[in-house]
Amino acid sequence: RFVTLEGGEGAGKSTQIRRLAARLAERGVAVVATREPGGSPRAEEIRAVILSGSARRLGPLAEALLFAAARADHLDVTIRPALARGAWVVCDRFFDSTRAYQGARGGVDASVLAALDRIVVGETRPDLTLVLDLPAELGLARAHARRGAAEPVDRFEAEDLAFHEALRRDFLAIAAAEPARCVVVDASGGEDEVAEAVWRAVESRLLA
Ligand code: C5P
Repeated sequence: RFVTLEGGEGAGKSTQIRRLAARLAERGVAVVATREPGGSPRAEEIRAVILSGSARRLGPLAEALLFAAARADHLDVTIRPALARGAWVVCDRFFDSTRAYQGARGGVDASVLAALDRIVVGETRPDLTLVLDLPAELGLARAHARRGAAEPVDRFEAEDLAFHEALRRDFLAIAAAEPARCVVVDASGGEDEVAEAVWRAVESRLLA
């Protein structure tokens, strides 16, 4: 099973990935938790390039191509081998983030991204995608509160609230377009509450 978590800044994806992976492991499920951009040694190197100040000046198309390169390696090195041995893969961001950030926000044509998906992702599409949804203002406040910790400052910090609100709508539109794959989870509550909602979605879609 291949599960992805998506959402804007401060939605709590990495926390929820950790909790979901732990809960699956408790049930005896072999699980690999991973993330994008990154998730394999070389893809993590590409992540560093993408998130560095200089790469921010790349256009959205160049960025999308770097994401595609990183994703190709991540799939080959981490995701497909794990799925092949029967493990579950839970991934923090995947192609829906590319669609939202480089596509809807960056202006890269959806047909270009779909072509890249055909080449890079092929049949390895997520079985379930959880879109962690919360008001942009709350997500930004959380992201700011987290700052000073391990992760670098959000690269979209300079964007205004309207950008993040649009991004929220982009993720909701993606979920609405593919209801068989996507579940929207209210991420505005506390960590435990969101973890329960995530678990309910996974249980009903994949464990029932
Ligand atoms: O989720 P995480 O905080 O690790 O993502 C790192 C940064 O990369 C974030 O600022 C996120 O918005 C950005 N990103 C992006 N395009 C993607 C995926 C992530 O710009 N396709």
